[in-house]
Amino acid sequence: MLVPISDQTAAATEGYPGDKPRLTLDLDVEVCVVGGGLAGLTTAIEAARQGASVAVLEARTIGWNASGRNLGTVLPGFGVPVTDLIERVGLQHARELWMLSEQGGGYIRETVRRFAPDMTIGEGALEVSTTDAGDRLIGWLQTIGDLGTNVEGWQIDRVREQLRTDRYFHALHFPNAFHLDGAEYLRLLVRLAEQQGVRIFENTPVVNIDPAGIRKRIITPLARVRAGHLVLAGNVHIGTPAIRLASTLLPVWRYAALTEPLGDRLAEVIAFKGAVLDDDGIDHFHVIHGDRLLWTGPETTWESRPSRFARTIRRRIRKVFPQLSDAGLDQVWSASFGQTVHGMPQIGQLRPGLWVASGFGRQGLNTSAMGGSLIARAMLSGDDRWRLFSPFELVWAGGNTGRLVGQVATVLNRGKSAAAGTLARIRERASARERQMEQRRAKRVAAVQARTARATQASRLHDGNEN
Ligand SMILES: Cc1cc2nc3c(=O)[nH]c(=O)nc-3n(C[C@H](O)[C@H](O)[C@H](O)COP(=O)(O)OP(=O)(O)OC[C@H]3O[C@@H](n4cnc5c(N)ncnc54)[C@H](O)[C@@H]3O)c2cc1C
Repeated sequence: MLVPISDQTAAATEGYPGDKPRLTLDLDVEVCVVGGGLAGLTTAIEAARQGASVAVLEARTIGWNASGRNLGTVLPGFGVPVTDLIERVGLQHARELWMLSEQGGGYIRETVRRFAPDMTIGEGALEVSTTDAGDRLIGWLQTIGDLGTNVEGWQIDRVREQLRTDRYFHALHFPNAFHLDGAEYLRLLVRLAEQQGVRIFENTPVVNIDPAGIRKRIITPLARVRAGHLVLAGNVHIGTPAIRLASTLLPVWRYAALTEPLGDRLAEVIAFKGAVLDDDGIDHFHVIHGDRLLWTGPETTWESRPSRFARTIRRRIRKVFPQLSDAGLDQVWSASFGQTVHGMPQIGQLRPGLWVASGFGRQGLNTSAMGGSLIARAMLSGDDRWRLFSPFELVWAGGNTGRLVGQVATVLNRGKSAAAGTLARIRERASARERQMEQRRAKRVAAVQARTARATQASRLHDGNEN
């Protein structure tokens, strides 16, 4: 939901116009995709590129949810700590998954390079630490480097040269990561899909499916589709057609805002041109249009009015950058994503010809690009690399209790992270004070030593003269 809190709008938060027809006549296709978000559109484009006839059925308008409302940051990985991934599937398996996630990012970059070379790309991303965790950083650097990703460690001084705040310490810098305008990328996918002959229908909710048999039957309010392959790419809104699938996702609403123009002072506070994410998974932001900030952070497991989070976002901005404490917001909005219990996306085949591409969580750009391409190749070329995701089976997310637990865990985790950050800053100030005291002590000792040395020399001279 987008709630303008002033009359100004910004291209980065505009959705898709919603000019596609509703499905009113029965249709027969090779591939039917449920859901017109990033996952559904990428699957459709890649299937059509391989010669399949494809239809996309979208319940509302293309990209109305997370796919048209995100921050556009494209990172490697999956949004779960890399160490957890290795622990779960082993180093070699994790490396293959990680490489696929990188290819997802590469897919987006290449698509933009070939078909929209004028689209603005902000290079690089910083994952900043909110605690003084230099040792941990070196460990991660090594692990992520071992997985084949281009990553470098930044010391505190370098981070603070780029981001004028004492809340951030070390950082991981991903030079190959980037950000783009998420809504513009979505519009590009729509254009490419249509160029490939994909038929897109809006305001066409899928209300029932019959996946048994070779030809799947897909029911919408006004017409039916028959398809050899059916791809469920509906994220948390999939609803009745796949109720058990829906119950494996914890819906999370994330709130984002765009500030008013902040003038030249923004560059003095944030010199870094890429995206910034903190390692607590709370704040994520970057500069757009030269002097505005695009910022996301608060989350709930229930839908709430975005305008209620304007103050929270302003508070987060103020906390990290007190210099911007008067920054006003032009827009605030929310969108939801599906979080799986294990944190990894749902990519695979549920039964012959019935596929799922969902659960992309907070990091859905590279992963949905990867998931869509993998599934299209699996359906039409027999590529079975989707099986790499088999260890991450569908796990019930706990229904309403799961939501409650999820919300409490988020609040607690965030509280813990905030406390750790406060502690780190207190420690940093204490150690700065200690360093100053140490320097003063060292000066005093040096002065005493110098005086002693002078006195010794003088007494030696005196003794010599006496002798
Ligand atoms: C505020 C915010 C910022 C984010 N920033 C980033 C970021 O910077 N980088 C990043 O990698 N990720 C980011 N994400 C996450 C990313 O946007 C999502 O993971 C991704 O868009 C999910 O895409 P999707 O296609 O699976 O889902 P969606 O965008 O939700 O699309 C699913 C579509 O399926 C349709 N649908 C569902 N059920 C049916 C049905 N029965 N019949 C017909 N249609 C149906 C829905 O209407 C919907 O349009 C962000 C998310 C949010 C909320």
